[in-house]
Amino acid sequence: MKRYTGLIENYRSRLPVSESTRIISLGEGNTPLIELHHIPRLIGKEVKIYVKFEGLNPTGSFKDRGMTMAVTKAVEAGSQAIICASTGNTSAAAAAYAVRAGIQAFVLIPEGKIALGKLAQTLMYGAKIIQINGNFDRGMALVKEVAEHAPVTIVNSINPYRLEGQKTAAFEIVDELGFAPDYHCLPVGNAGNITAYWKGYKEYFTGRVCANTPVMCGYQAAGAAPFALGEMVDNPETVATAIRIGHPQSWDLAWTAQKESGGWFDKFSDEQILAAQKMLSQFEGVFCEPASAASLAGALHDISTGKIPEGSIIVCTLTGNGIKDPEIAMQQCADAKPVTIDASLDAVKRAILDHI
Ligand SMILES: *Cc1c(COP(=O)(O)O)cnc(C)c1O
Repeated sequence: MKRYTGLIENYRSRLPVSESTRIISLGEGNTPLIELHHIPRLIGKEVKIYVKFEGLNPTGSFKDRGMTMAVTKAVEAGSQAIICASTGNTSAAAAAYAVRAGIQAFVLIPEGKIALGKLAQTLMYGAKIIQINGNFDRGMALVKEVAEHAPVTIVNSINPYRLEGQKTAAFEIVDELGFAPDYHCLPVGNAGNITAYWKGYKEYFTGRVCANTPVMCGYQAAGAAPFALGEMVDNPETVATAIRIGHPQSWDLAWTAQKESGGWFDKFSDEQILAAQKMLSQFEGVFCEPASAASLAGALHDISTGKIPEGSIIVCTLTGNGIKDPEIAMQQCADAKPVTIDASLDAVKRAILDHI
């Protein structure tokens, strides 16, 4: 039996590590690629849709892929502390990997705009949390400034090692399918992830005769859609807090990914995103967080219009776990209150028979 010990060990030869590098890992990566069985039938289209469920990483989001690399390299360079601005998931990942490495994590978060589960995680891991009365974009600007004056390593996706780690998700997909999908759909915030996947697909096929890379489709929330609009947004708003970003850090890189792959950006309302989140849970048994569902909302839209034609093989990345945002989940199911009955056999029997 070969024990899985994380993505750096698994893809060592394609990552910037040496024999002597001390690897900081929590066993991240190797997440399931789940084929949707019910939704394609429901929409009446001949397509194959897979979801790459990144919510099953150690801290519940794809950020762990980048963080294992970024923290490994920070420690290798002798850093004693890391810092990030975050909408929640980066802070949880930074906090966990810092503990693993035995160094300090500082995280800047927008007060009141981070999902409950992400805040709880970050507190539990013991990071130093600094809340600001400003949004992610402001936090990011402050982090860049403070890192010039204090001995801390930035672990946001402007740290190139983050993208190195994240590109391994593309490797896993091709390894598993035996080929790249026709279309790869992702939610886009700072756009580090779409950039990393594109890098991964290109690297995978470098030097091969049969280079079939996917069309990259980036989907945003309508209230936070700088790529879809073609310009920065000053006051981004969306329930999908993980992509509530108006000034993306990987602006140029993501446009390159879009152009080189022949892809596109688009935007969808919070209602469309939440509908896709609920659909995935209730028809497929896959519970992702709201931002993640933008990938499926976009794919379903583009399949319905024919922009993604029938016969296509599509992968949607589900970036984070639904359990991270219990408040949105409860709102989504407000009309499905649990019934309360007597603790008797009769009453339980009746409750069951009512539902068959
Ligand atoms: C970080 C994050 C995103 C956005 O990823 P970018 O690389 O910033 O585009 C999307 N969904 C979730 C759940 C995230 O945590």
